[in-house]
Formats: sequence, structure tokens, C-alpha cells
Amino acid sequence: MERQDRQDRGVGPLSTTPAPIETEALVIGAGPVGLFQAFQLGLLEIPCHIVDALPSAGGQCVQLYGDKPIYDIPGVPATSGRGLAESLLQQVAPLKPQFHFEQQVATLERQADQRLLLGTTAGTTFLAKTVFIAAGVGAFVAKRIALEGIQRFEGTKLFYHPEALERFDGQAVVVNGGDDAALATALALIGKARQVTLLHRRDGFQADDALVARMRALVAEGALNFAVGQPAAFDGQVLQITTPDARTVTLPLDALIACLGISPRLGPMADWGLDLVRKQVPVDTERFQTHEAGVFAVGDINTYPGKKKLIVCGFHEATLAAWAATAIVFPGKAVPLQYTTTSTRLHQLLGVG
Ligand code: FAD
Repeated sequence: MERQDRQDRGVGPLSTTPAPIETEALVIGAGPVGLFQAFQLGLLEIPCHIVDALPSAGGQCVQLYGDKPIYDIPGVPATSGRGLAESLLQQVAPLKPQFHFEQQVATLERQADQRLLLGTTAGTTFLAKTVFIAAGVGAFVAKRIALEGIQRFEGTKLFYHPEALERFDGQAVVVNGGDDAALATALALIGKARQVTLLHRRDGFQADDALVARMRALVAEGALNFAVGQPAAFDGQVLQITTPDARTVTLPLDALIACLGISPRLGPMADWGLDLVRKQVPVDTERFQTHEAGVFAVGDINTYPGKKKLIVCGFHEATLAAWAATAIVFPGKAVPLQYTTTSTRLHQLLGVG
């Protein structure tokens, strides 16, 4: 009550915990199906927020086959995983979903007023009338360096798969890893960072041949250092590594970047009481709703008789789930089906014509 009085007087709540973001819909996962879910919700005038553990959208399409061609998207004879994600983002943009990246939805609880309270690993909370779980094969999270206590340097001296590299300008940087992402990051830092060292556990890479050739050429020129070994200790200023012949080598640095791969983890979703079947959420095939009213599951995360883990199936599921949500968001209102071809209201929403 006191909190309400303070709010009424415009002086803000006593607690410093930010109030939950109230929303009609929360989409968990910005993979292809989560993005299309937001589009379908937008057409039905249901505003939504989207949360993803990754720093950007696209899910498996970008993480697992970004540059590979994909041929079975309706009406798109050929695109790439990344191209599909970009098209979906472009398509949904006029409907203005609000993205929250680099945070995993960790908790989901029903409130007394039937809304759903969700909390993320970054401390963001949402109070949502409807929830759409589009979590695919789980949240994509960067593999961590296995050294006790190293997490205390995250965000200051230690960075996993950073998107922007400008902050490393003028610094001595060690990049740990041996795949495309590690090599591309090391190469991108050359000429910007003061010193770049690529560290990998062996002198062999799981990366594109052209990247490896470029990396070896730069090492030969002296523009890039290469060290073989495994991290053994880190104090924020010096990385100690153990070499394959059991020597200890020290690498002084300003920043350590680790690109050790990104892998999906189902994580806390297993504790949301959704009766998972082999790590998937059972749904009905009329509304794609779980056994929790207002909690829908679409895309690779769901299961039902005849389920196929294909993007086109996820698009269909997302469409019917959005329509099912209208009964919760607009109770008692008959929502008419409108065509994007002819509806002036939809044209308004899409910012066309
Ligand atoms: P995902 O793409 O897995 O996206 C889920 C997103 O949710 C991820 O970004 C993840 O980080 C996020 N997430 C999960 N849990 C949380 C959480 N708790 N909090 C925050 N974020 C979370 N399908 C086709 O139709 N045609 C093809 O040709 C094709 N080729 C493929 C090739 C390969 C190599 C692979 C691996 C798959 C292929 N697929 C193909 C399958 C297709 O990629 C999947 O069906 C599709 O990606 C599923 O989309 P989604 O949005 O359900 O899940």
C-alpha cells in the first residue's frame, strides 16, 4: 500500500528493484519461429517482447548454418540461414517487437491474476498475459573456460564471443579457440588491437581453409602471434598456459577473448512444470498451447503427434498460436481474419500503401 501511495505521489517505489515490464505477450527465443511468432502477433495487434540468450536474432539458422543455402522456405527458392534471419527481421520490423538480447529466461510463475511472471538471467522481469516458448533446442550459450573463479573477470577482462570489437582497440588481446569464430575474431583485431595472440589447444583448426591460410600468413609475417596450449591460470593481467609438452608459458594481456563454441542448453525450462517429454514441450495441435493456459510452445521445442522439426511447420504453429492468444488478450472480442493483400488496417500496421 505504501508503495502505491509513493507511486501516486510520483516519488517512486521504496525498493530499487525495477518493476516488471507489463506486456500482452512474451516470446522466448528469437530464432526463425520466434521472429515469425512476433510477426503474427503484430498482425493481430498484440504487442510483444522477445528475449534471447544470444546477442542477436536467428537461432540455429545463424549459429549452425549461417552461410549454408536453404531451399525449403515457401516462396523463397534459395536463401542462407543468415539471409532468412535477416528477411524475418525486416518483415517484423514495422510491428516493432522489443528485443532483449544476451539474457536467458530463467523463471516462469503464474500470478494470482493469472498473468505470468518471468525473470531473466540479467534481472529483467516481465508480467505477461501470454507466453510463447520458441526456445528451439535450448538457449545458445557460449562454452566457458574451465578455470575456477575465472567468471569474476567476465565483462571486464574476459569476453565470450563479443559482437563489437572496438573496445579492444590499442590493447594486447589473447583470443582462445580454433574455429571460424576464433580465427575471424583474431584476424579482425589485427591493425586495431596493439598485439593479438591466437591461443589454441593444438596446431590444427576446425575452420574454413581460407581463414586458416590467412591466419598462417599473418603469423609468418609477424602480425599475429600463435600459441599452442590450454589456459591454466588467469589473474586478469596474465594468462598462464600449459603447452602440449607440459611447459608453463605466461601471456600478459589486457583482454582475453574466448571463442570456444556456442551450444544449446535447455536450462531452467525443465523446472517450469511443463511435463517435458524427451526435452520437448507437449502441445495441442489446435492452439499449440501447453497444459498451462496462455503458455504456448512453437518450433523445435514442442512435440505432438506427427511433429516435424522444420521451419515451415514452426511458422504454421506460430500463426495458430497467435490466433489462440486473441481469446486471452481480447476476451469476448471476435477478431476477424484479414488478408495482408487487401486490409487497409494491416497496411497501416505494416507501414505500406
Ligand atoms: P531455434 O532456431 O533453435 O531458436 C531458438 C532460440 O531460442 C535460440 O536463439 C536460443 O538462444 C533461444 N532460447 C532458448 N531458450 C531460451 C531461454 N530460456 N531464454 C532466452 N533464449 C532462449 N529446417 C528447415 O526447415 N530446412 C532446412 O533446410 C534446415 N536445415 C538445417 C540444417 C542444420 C545443420 C540444422 C541444425 C537445422 C536445420 N533445420 C532446417 C532446422 C531448423 O533450423 C529448425 O527447425 C529451426 O531453427 C527451429 O527454429 P526455432 O525458432 O524453433 O528454434
